[in-house]
Amino acid sequence: METLRTEFDFTLPRGYVDNEGNLYKNGTMRLANAIDEIAPLRDPRVRANQAYLVIILLSRVITRLGTITDVTPKHVEGLFASDLAYLQKFYRQINENGTSQFSVQCPSCSTEFEVDFGQLGGELQAIPSTSSTKR
Ligand SMILES: [Zn+2]
Repeated sequence: METLRTEFDFTLPRGYVDNEGNLYKNGTMRLANAIDEIAPLRDPRVRANQAYLVIILLSRVITRLGTITDVTPKHVEGLFASDLAYLQKFYRQINENGTSQFSVQCPSCSTEFEVDFGQLGGELQAIPSTSSTKR
């Protein structure tokens, strides 16, 4: 039984550091709606600088960053560049495929593995794919 998931957990490669020096590595991102990609275009900060679009977009779809549940563009601005790049890839992965997991094939023995992109920022966890036996 497969249910449509709309929220996915991620692990930042480096982590967000707040003003008190607390480190937040885990968070949750929800799937984007059309309005999430349209609304930032009306923001004057995006009109002034197109690169700001991704900041606003991510602040809308990240529902939790560590214990922070009211993620704002200020939080996203404070992320390390590597974490921002990871989140952009994570955003594409879940919105294009509807899952944070994807299949990779071992180049030497051709075994298929399911990799959870939500774990890539932290530890890489490859689990033998159970779905590949059905194919
Ligand atoms: Zn192998």
